[in-house]
Amino acid sequence: MWYKNLGAHLKSITTLNQILRQSSHAARRKVLTESNDLNVFKVGYKLHGFEIKGVQEVSEFRLTAIHLVHENTKAEYLHLYRNDSNNVFAIQFRTTPKNSTGLPHILEHTVLCGSKKYPVRDPFFKMLNRSLATFMNAMTGSDYTVYPFSTQNLSDFRNLQKIYLDATFRPLLKELDFMQEGWRLENVNPADAATPLIIKGVVYNEMKGAFSENENLLGQKLQNLILPDHTYGVISGGDPLEIPNLTWEDLKKFHAECYHPSNAKFFSYGNFPLSPSLEYLNRVYLSPHEYREPAHTVVPKQNRWSAPKREHIEGRFEAMREPIEKQNSVVVSLLLSDITDIYDTFLMQFVSELLIKGPNSPFYKSMVEPNFSGGFTPSTGYDMQTRDSIFTIGLQGVKKEDFDKVVGIFDSTLDNVVSHGFDEKHIESILHRYEISIKHESANFGLNVVLGLVPTWNHNGDILAALQVNKLIDKLKKEMKQDSNYLQNIVKRYFKDNTHRLILTMSPDKDFEKKQNALEDELIKKKTQDLKDDDKQIVFKKCLELQKVQTEQQNTDILPTLLMEDISNEVEKISRERVTINSVPVQINKVSSNGIVYFKGLLGTVELSPEQQMLLPLFCYVINKLGTDNLNFREFDSLMNRKTAGLSLEPHIGESLFQLHNYEPSVFISSHCLEKNVESMWELWRELFNIRESLDVERFQRLTELYMANLTHGVADAGHIYAMKAASALVSGSAYQKELLGGLQHISYMKRLIGTSRYKAVLEEIQNIAKIIFTKNNLRCAFNISQENQSKIMKTFAQFTTGIPETSKQATHDRSYVEGKVWSSFNAVNCQHHVLNVPVNYCSKAVLTAPYNKKDFARLRVLARLLSAKYLHPELREKQGAYGGGARLTSDGVLVFYSYRDPRSLQTLDVFDNTFAWLKENVDKTSSQELLESKLGVFQAVDAPIPPCAKGCDEFLRRLTPDILQRHRAEIMSVDKNALKDVTEKYLGNNDPALSGKVVLGPKNEKFDTTSRPSEMWTTMENE
Ligand SMILES: [Zn+2]
Repeated sequence: MWYKNLGAHLKSITTLNQILRQSSHAARRKVLTESNDLNVFKVGYKLHGFEIKGVQEVSEFRLTAIHLVHENTKAEYLHLYRNDSNNVFAIQFRTTPKNSTGLPHILEHTVLCGSKKYPVRDPFFKMLNRSLATFMNAMTGSDYTVYPFSTQNLSDFRNLQKIYLDATFRPLLKELDFMQEGWRLENVNPADAATPLIIKGVVYNEMKGAFSENENLLGQKLQNLILPDHTYGVISGGDPLEIPNLTWEDLKKFHAECYHPSNAKFFSYGNFPLSPSLEYLNRVYLSPHEYREPAHTVVPKQNRWSAPKREHIEGRFEAMREPIEKQNSVVVSLLLSDITDIYDTFLMQFVSELLIKGPNSPFYKSMVEPNFSGGFTPSTGYDMQTRDSIFTIGLQGVKKEDFDKVVGIFDSTLDNVVSHGFDEKHIESILHRYEISIKHESANFGLNVVLGLVPTWNHNGDILAALQVNKLIDKLKKEMKQDSNYLQNIVKRYFKDNTHRLILTMSPDKDFEKKQNALEDELIKKKTQDLKDDDKQIVFKKCLELQKVQTEQQNTDILPTLLMEDISNEVEKISRERVTINSVPVQINKVSSNGIVYFKGLLGTVELSPEQQMLLPLFCYVINKLGTDNLNFREFDSLMNRKTAGLSLEPHIGESLFQLHNYEPSVFISSHCLEKNVESMWELWRELFNIRESLDVERFQRLTELYMANLTHGVADAGHIYAMKAASALVSGSAYQKELLGGLQHISYMKRLIGTSRYKAVLEEIQNIAKIIFTKNNLRCAFNISQENQSKIMKTFAQFTTGIPETSKQATHDRSYVEGKVWSSFNAVNCQHHVLNVPVNYCSKAVLTAPYNKKDFARLRVLARLLSAKYLHPELREKQGAYGGGARLTSDGVLVFYSYRDPRSLQTLDVFDNTFAWLKENVDKTSSQELLESKLGVFQAVDAPIPPCAKGCDEFLRRLTPDILQRHRAEIMSVDKNALKDVTEKYLGNNDPALSGKVVLGPKNEKFDTTSRPSEMWTTMENE
């Protein structure tokens, strides 16, 4: 249940990209095809109260789209038939709030708290554990709310469909649920009516957390200002300072207005039959209703401005980033096409990509290359989530005095494009990206298509046309051929001459937090000052009532559930082969790859010094952007984008399945291309493997600064991940290495490195690393390819291996594992407070347990699910108003607890510490259903669908063979109460400081008093 605002995350979720970048995996296990029925689905055909309005084959995605309209209510339904077992269902409503109290968002949360047919508290969260769903969630956009799920199991599909439909159309919307999910006044100590009142609530905290990312603040403000006249002028997720103005009555009214069938749209996708869905939907939910014109939710087009506007806002000062005078951002945004105009919107996206993608794009050359900023803001790109689409280009890390310069560059860049056009090769590379994306198959294809269509359909755009991407591309090519100035004219008309332009600047304010707190205090005062003693008693009693309801035992028997029999006993085995080619070990996974060659490699890094290891993340970021001995960086990038989907490198820590603390350190390299381009792909890798000449220091400095500028993005959004990484690093050697290369310690390290300005020396070290690891002796590879092309492709690979360096040293594959840092009871530092300038906390506790191959690992996985569902979620989310909390077992063998966007800190650690006592009391009381639910939860992860490009990957990266996985599955299935008791005693009853670590990531806080916690050794990290 997350809130999607227009900020950082949405840039990739645009209709076309969505469809392009994702595609699906072949059907697996139970396949129930309905292809025969497809013949009867013709335009005009009527069934179960629906009439078919359109049928469209979409050959590029191998699917058939069927568009239906319900006769009585005019509710619309889109079915995408595709031979894919990962079926999707979704319900969408147009929700257009007129204020920032978070109405649609709080409603989205509250409808999932119980419905007429399923009057248990929180059926949605309960179903998470009774299902094998591959996805279950709900999202609030600026003008829509959507409830999607996906699953591979037919009974699961029908179960979840019932839950979702009843939740959205017949929710209970109880007052106590509104208080829990939205907001409430509560005494600081809920047991003492004399203590001061504060504001609590899940969405209230969620939104406080969301706006603790500057980028989210900027993105939200940008949308509000460029589309000021209607629903986009307010914050649909809720402004924390406005949320407490929302009443329970408002909420019920909004539901009655917006969640009507005539304002609803339905999706299904996959190979399950369509008719039963229509029959059920019509009989139970649609037929009782009549049509009601949804005019009140229609969003008009924005009236265009006749002159540009300029605005300035303040954001948080971020200690981890550049100095304060360089922490400003400036963005220029243009309002472009109506998203229901399918071709125009596609064209705007294409032109946007031409303008900003890669070092050969005009804006990269004019804005990023001259060294005066921290590069593009994450909001840079083309956004088609709103009725009118928006193009944004922004620079972060700039000085205030450079604001005008940026605006000047914006204009001159467009002038330049209008008079000179785009480079032919650059156009070719963007078209090639489309071509390869259509063929590339990755996980959750169906879900991504559905979510990609949501904004267009929300305004009644032609979704059947939107799906036919090849047609759009053909039209574009034809237009470009007929008119050599086509693109230039488009840039002139839509970009250059566009007067609906917003220039938005943001500067850091060191007192931002203080001001926010003052506003919050004022709000609490306003809400409480007129309360009489009687009113306060009512507040106190209601909160007690809420607490009582939260702790009551629930009868969940009325909820449907899957059974152990629904889980397959067999691990999916793909046909794979191991060969050695020119002494390089190769694993060949034979899959239906749809004409694409997927290449993966691991380059061992055991030969590197510890200092060199620390540089690996930077190495991976820069090495394919610096140019090579034969190609400058522009030529390299151009070839890469015209012939492949990109060359990627990242540090990889392959944890041992057998030994705690041990891991295989390496660099994971990967790329994919169309089969016809495989020689060019090798040419690119060969260039990188053979870098010998000295590289350009200035370019390196530029790239390093860009890397740094982006490193801290998302720390607040993913604070729990950083907290878990840091806590795990206090107990596990392999986790410690991951923290050094990708956690908070990596950010601190990079900050120090940049502070030294020794770019020349660091670049020399980067080149040394290249010389050490880019050798044949150091490489093992995997391919995911179709059988019929195997020999041809392997021949080209053999050729490639003869052209890369080789040393006389022994190959590293046989001595690739190392033991990481291991703390002892004497030198353990087991608690860290990482101070971060945000208004919420992220808490974590890590406990070292057992490696993957041990039976205990399977038991602890089940235990972690049980704890999350039965103890941590109720305790942290429902009672304390944290946005989330739970426990999981990492592949390092660490049981790690976490809380997300948490108003509390040390008290949450107490909740974690009480786990042992809770388990001692409750494991025996665990019912067989609860045990089953915990196992289903584990299997959701174990059996998640794997796309063709990733099959066999676990074996390659972690040496997790199908046989080991098979044994692990059997061990999960056999876990019983005694096994859970056993691991509870063994791992949670131990107080050795070397075996457990705690981390709090959050604001400086005078209440953060660790003196009363004598068994803990606290260190404070200021991150300044
Ligand atoms: Zn939410």
